[in-house]
Amino acid sequence: MARTIGPVCRLCRRDSMKLYLKGDRCYSAKCAIERRNFAPGQHGPNAGAGRRRKISDFSLQLREKQKTRRIYGVLERQFRRYFKDATRQSGVTGQTLLQFLELRLDNIVYRLGFASSRKQARQLVLHGHIAVNGKEASVPSALLKPGDAVSVLEASRSSPYFQAIAKELANRGSASWLSVNGPNLNGAVVSIPSRDQIDTPVKEQLIVEYYSR
Ligand code: SF4
Repeated sequence: MARTIGPVCRLCRRDSMKLYLKGDRCYSAKCAIERRNFAPGQHGPNAGAGRRRKISDFSLQLREKQKTRRIYGVLERQFRRYFKDATRQSGVTGQTLLQFLELRLDNIVYRLGFASSRKQARQLVLHGHIAVNGKEASVPSALLKPGDAVSVLEASRSSPYFQAIAKELANRGSASWLSVNGPNLNGAVVSIPSRDQIDTPVKEQLIVEYYSR
């Protein structure tokens, strides 16, 4: 996951929507989109008022690509590689691209509810708290497949953080293409998500158009 230097809430304000980059804060009244839902910049909410600005197709495609990259925390080079790999697969390219992003280990740790953001999920993997199929996993970008089991390592389960997560997950489900056992702090990939199982608010066709220029 790419590390964004600087205030990430600006990225949400730039796209006028919540990208959920900060975990719990994103669900609170402190969220910058709740308080200042206008593009960042020194001129404030009325900047450009009265000016008519035509947004080009290129601009729309670029914004959608950047937004998707930021949501999943992927660097440009890796994102482009996912796109290239998606074009080599049979099926709808944009949908396959989203499936690659969803099947990343850090995203799955987030979707299972073990972390409140993808960034935090990446940290959990890097700090050696997560196992895939019983073995410690250290690569947040690893792509999982149906049948893979994800769990919190035995040594980490008794930590106050994971104890709290286990309690919280007892009353919560996860994405429909995953299964989760909250109290046991484990889960699994049941299937590759279909487009309607991916709730990320992106128009993937614009990304396909961006890279197909
Ligand atoms: Fe985006 Fe979260 Fe910041 Fe809100 S709190 S603006 S959703 S990163």
